[in-house]
Amino acid sequence: MSEGSSSPDVAIIGGGLAGLACAVALSESGFSIALYEASSRLAGRAQSWTDSVSGDCIDLGPHIFLSEYRNALSFLQRLNTRHRVSWETDRLIRLREGAHITDMFLQRLPPPLHLATSMARVKTLSWHDKLSNRRILQLAMRVDEQLIHELDGMSAMDLLRQCGVSKRFIQWFWSTACLTVMNVPLEQCSAGALLRVFAQLIGRRRYRIGFAACGLAELFVPEAVKRIEQGAGRIYLGAPVRQFLIRDSTLDGLLLGDGSHVRARHYVCAVPPRELHSMLPEHVGAIHPFKELLSFEPSPYISTYLWFDRKLTDEKFWAFINDASHLNSDFYDLSNIREGWQARPSLIASNIIFSHRSHSLSDEQIVRQTHEEISVALPTARNAMIAHAVVNRIPLAIPCPKPGTEAKRMPTVTALAGLLVAGDWTRTHLPACMESAVYSGWSAAEVILRARGRDEEWTLPVKRLDGFVGVINRVNRRRAFEGKTA
Ligand SMILES: Cc1cc2nc3c(=O)[nH]c(=O)nc-3n(C[C@H](O)[C@H](O)[C@H](O)COP(=O)(O)OP(=O)(O)OC[C@H]3O[C@@H](n4cnc5c(N)ncnc54)[C@H](O)[C@@H]3O)c2cc1C
Repeated sequence: MSEGSSSPDVAIIGGGLAGLACAVALSESGFSIALYEASSRLAGRAQSWTDSVSGDCIDLGPHIFLSEYRNALSFLQRLNTRHRVSWETDRLIRLREGAHITDMFLQRLPPPLHLATSMARVKTLSWHDKLSNRRILQLAMRVDEQLIHELDGMSAMDLLRQCGVSKRFIQWFWSTACLTVMNVPLEQCSAGALLRVFAQLIGRRRYRIGFAACGLAELFVPEAVKRIEQGAGRIYLGAPVRQFLIRDSTLDGLLLGDGSHVRARHYVCAVPPRELHSMLPEHVGAIHPFKELLSFEPSPYISTYLWFDRKLTDEKFWAFINDASHLNSDFYDLSNIREGWQARPSLIASNIIFSHRSHSLSDEQIVRQTHEEISVALPTARNAMIAHAVVNRIPLAIPCPKPGTEAKRMPTVTALAGLLVAGDWTRTHLPACMESAVYSGWSAAEVILRARGRDEEWTLPVKRLDGFVGVINRVNRRRAFEGKTA
């Protein structure tokens, strides 16, 4: 990777998925880019490295892909690494509540009926609990951006209560889904943001969960670097941007950590919201919409990797039904996921999501309790020895989608002339995730291409909903449109 300074067409700040997706798109479109990354490693929150004790490549924390990640998978396709995502094949997800197992499958029925059989079979929920979702289901089938906006100021818990969802169902399904997908408890989640995700869950015909069969960053960093450098682009590591330089109310340059200046024709800032705020001059950061960047609170994670002395399971992945007595939510046996690791002893990675309650625990305590939680699911683990453990404390997994934050997600073209933004948290109409990051990076690239008179499309929109959900959704949207134009 390069050293030195340059005067590129486009300066990109941040070498996570969003920054790299943008850089690859622009490099392949013939632009000279310079990418500035504060850390010594690319990939941001999707980073991986070689663990010095085991020699294994591990990620900052285990991630899942969804087959509906059109942009992220298309990015991997372009990089020729899509085949290195390994998919769950036999079921959608395995949920565990104590020793009780619920396997969720999608049937060949039109949505939302494709989930009905699995739901009907859940023995730990009564019919009253299951049917208490009628109103929220109806609402989700109608969902559009207007409704999401209207519900943004309300908490998901308030909405579920208003819709009459039973306490037990809220605890069993909704609090689990909210924590694992939105990374916050229901009380702290925007009702609009959760409803958007729920509509996808009930309205997509067939989807699957996938995992990187190698280190997560290996999927995209080496190839992205190659494409950028082939396009004469330059990547600067350990190169934090300190401040935006502004002239005549327009972004006119960057001040780097080493005191040097960078000037470019376009600027894309692909960093989390608070980092973006720290680059703004005080008078800009103090006014709307930039002061709102500070209202994005980080959702922290603790990810644990345990190397066991034996094989414990042939499962790839399972999740716990949310329960305040657990630390971890989701578990991944990498020996069943990584290419060529099948014969190895289990290496189980897990996530403590929205981990504030665990911050006072020592690494030893976290390892001990994680071992116990794995033993609940896999009793053979009780007698297994842990050969090695790593605990990663992660200050930001995603910015919390708290009530009111949907409205504050920033569009690609910002109120500061010359500044484009990208990142999972920007206004992509997707939850903050890898898909949103890639989408946002490509959106920024498209704005620059259009500014140069090139109408090229990189982004792929979210697909229409399927089955009965899709029909109801489209009828509702048409009515809303006709209502507006009448
Ligand atoms: C443990 C964990 C589990 C997750 N699980 C999932 C999952 O299962 N599925 C999913 O889709 N997503 C998951 N995510 C979220 C996913 O990783 C992020 O949505 C995505 O990686 C965000 O990419 P980004 O490019 O927007 O931001 P980032 O990855 O944060 O990239 C921003 C980059 O900017 C750099 N930077 C910051 N400040 C400066 C500066 N001043 N100058 C220069 N550079 C700067 C940072 O160092 C960083 O490299 C998870 C995240 C974590 C941490």
